[in-house]
Amino acid sequence: MSAPFVTRFAPSPTGRLHRGHAFSALTAHAAARAAQGRFLLRIEDIDATRCRPEYEAAILEDLAWLGLTWEQPVRRQSEHPADHQAALDRLAARGLLYRCFRTRREIAQAIASAPHGAMETWRGGPLPADEEARRLAAGETFAWRLHLDAALATLEAPLTFREEGAGPKGETSLILARPELGGDVVLARKDVGVAYHLAVTVDDALQGVTHVIRGQDLFEATHVQRLLQALLDLPEPVYRHHRLLTGPDGKRYAKRDRAQTLAELRAAGVTPQALRAEMGF
Ligand code: GLU
Repeated sequence: MSAPFVTRFAPSPTGRLHRGHAFSALTAHAAARAAQGRFLLRIEDIDATRCRPEYEAAILEDLAWLGLTWEQPVRRQSEHPADHQAALDRLAARGLLYRCFRTRREIAQAIASAPHGAMETWRGGPLPADEEARRLAAGETFAWRLHLDAALATLEAPLTFREEGAGPKGETSLILARPELGGDVVLARKDVGVAYHLAVTVDDALQGVTHVIRGQDLFEATHVQRLLQALLDLPEPVYRHHRLLTGPDGKRYAKRDRAQTLAELRAAGVTPQALRAEMGF
């Protein structure tokens, strides 16, 4: 029997899907087919301030229109806070998290005012205990951040990840993970209780995802997520970061390009067959 192959498409219901999403979903779906593997859909809806149920319904409609099928049940991230909390607790117990009381704006200012290029991402580390106690007592809200220096110190060897198809002949490359690209990432937001990197890492593991197939725009995220996998003793998936589609202006598609949503294309009479063919599927 061949090795299991489980991949997923994990959109956030914060807007309508556009061509770029279609390409991503088709890429993962085709890979699962080619490997006689499984294709999962995960709805990344932890950010209640930006996600809307109507966008989720539209995602299902658009993907079905594209001709994709996926396994049931669909995992909705917001329905699994206990799974995410368990991972946070584990990191906290290892002394790898700290409370951050700063606002996003304060963090951005601190980074901007650091000597030129000295700090691209936040690596502030924990506050002195007395200041933390004072701010907690004052009822200030906080996010939980990964203490990167402490996390890196627990590793016995540099971390790597496998990127399929990255070599000049399409072979697999071993890439050195550079979690410092993310700095002390936020793992639990003040408002939401969990943050993107933690939820994705935990959910990929719980869903048995063996192949993370997603756009090149999430390449840096992989460096951070690889570290979280190691810290949480989770299995290591293989990665494929696919190219990003660009529009006629050479820029990649984004949610702001309303005319390129699948709904608009459909309304303009584009057929799923035509769209798939245009994208090489
Ligand atoms: N939910 C993320 C997004 O829509 C993708 C997460 C992932 O593929 O790991 O950008």
